[in-house]
Parts: sequence; C-alpha cells; structure tokens
Amino acid sequence: MHEMALMESLVRVLASEAPRHNITQIKKVKLTVGALTHALPDALRFAFSVLREQPLFAPGAELEIEERKTRCRCRDCGADFAVEGNLGFLCPGCGGFAVDIIQGRELQIDYFEGD
Ligand SMILES: [Zn+2]
Repeated sequence: MHEMALMESLVRVLASEAPRHNITQIKKVKLTVGALTHALPDALRFAFSVLREQPLFAPGAELEIEERKTRCRCRDCGADFAVEGNLGFLCPGCGGFAVDIIQGRELQIDYFEGD
C-alpha cells in the first residue's frame, strides 16, 4: 500500500522534528496532499490510525488533510488553470501544451502540535 509507505516516511520526519520543538507527544498533524501524488486521503487516514499507536503520538491523535488540485501555468499565454482528473494538461486559454505544473505534487507536513 503506497499510502502506508508515505505515512511511514512522514512519521519518521515527525519523529526527528518533534524533539526540536520540545514535543514528546504529537496531538495533531496537518498535511497538504497534491492530486498528483495519487495518495488517497482515506488510505492516509487509515495508515495514520495504525501508526499513531506508537508512543510518539498522544492517544486519539488527529490527522487533518488538505487536498490540493493540480494547477498548471501556460508558457505561451501565462494562463493559470486547475486540471480536473486526468484530462490532460491543455491550456484552456490558448490550447497550448507547453505548461508547467505549479501545484499538485506536494505531500508535506504543514504543521504538527503536541506537548
Ligand atoms: Zn495558454
């Protein structure tokens, strides 16, 4: 399961970051997940529910997920647009194919809280 591996690597990041913030038990984690990561929020939540059993987390620790759509910018006309599903990366302004992906690849910890 792709999401379990992703969540395990995020938990490793949390385990190394928490002591630097004097946090011994994490109560809440906020993630930003881009559409291009193909990580399903429900599967991430399930992975978190398994991994939060370790002492790094307070009982009932929360996971909040913010999903981000894929966004592109056209190199020809500069239009900035959201991509729905996997319909391709065609500029709706000029029909160009030369687009840069500016959002959607991120899978990051926005913040975490605890004691
Ligand atoms: Zn364009």
